[in-house]
Amino acid sequence: MSGIRGKVVAITGASSGIGEATAAHLAERGALLVLGARREDRLNAVVDRITARGGTATGVLVDVTRREDLRLLTDTAVDRFGRLDVLVSNAGTMAVSPFDDLRQDDWDAMVATHITGLLNGIAATLPLFRRQRSGHFVTIGSTAAYAVKSPQGVYAATKTAVKVLTEGLRQESGPHLRVTLVSPGFTHTEGIGKGAAPEIAAAMTRQRDEIAMPPSAVAAAIGFAIEQPEGIDVGEIVVRPTAQA
Ligand code: NDP
Repeated sequence: MSGIRGKVVAITGASSGIGEATAAHLAERGALLVLGARREDRLNAVVDRITARGGTATGVLVDVTRREDLRLLTDTAVDRFGRLDVLVSNAGTMAVSPFDDLRQDDWDAMVATHITGLLNGIAATLPLFRRQRSGHFVTIGSTAAYAVKSPQGVYAATKTAVKVLTEGLRQESGPHLRVTLVSPGFTHTEGIGKGAAPEIAAAMTRQRDEIAMPPSAVAAAIGFAIEQPEGIDVGEIVVRPTAQA
């Protein structure tokens, strides 16, 4: 199956930002969506907007740090649509801070969300993809994995792990599966600065408002990877605003 129409796509972190924009982009092109996130009201609002425009979407409360939640996401896809074609592992947190602040809960959350969350998605989905003899993992990395900028050390480390895990998965994926890493640069979302140390959050928000690209740019990159014909694997896309160094 090539193109986007009719593909069953599960997206984590679909309640805002890049995940929400990706859901809207794929819904407009006829994908059947299973959307996961923790904030029920925001997730329901995304599902309602898509449905009101004639799209197809179901919301599932998902915390990616919990293995059973990812299994629920894939089970919902199979129960409702009979299969799962794409898992977009997008959930993330950018609560960055200098090491001296010792914000260990934020460090733990980045490790749990980006690394354990990605692994939970792989574990919940890989056996299904193997049985189907088809499936596509799309993982959201970051340009932070290419250039470490203070105070993003922990965030950059977890996104570097995401990049490495995705490449390792790609090498083991075999002839039937596809694996794509999409690494965005500065993107205009509410996640920029959220939970970060206050002075850092202010600087990040200012920079976001000056140079960030819209989340629809990342959604289009994800759509490009998904719409390729079977047998064509887009391994990696880095997409950033031209103003970003
Ligand atoms: P948002 O904060 O808008 O989106 C983050 C999403 O992740 C939300 O839907 C949030 O939903 C969800 N989320 C966070 N933690 C969890 C969790 N434990 N379980 C399930 N869902 C979770 O920010 P962005 O759209 O910008 O971020 C999306 C991804 O893009 C992240 O991985 C981020 O690192 C990456 N990225 C963003 C860039 C940017 O400049 N904006 C640049 C490079 C990469 P909820 O709280 O409802 O669970």
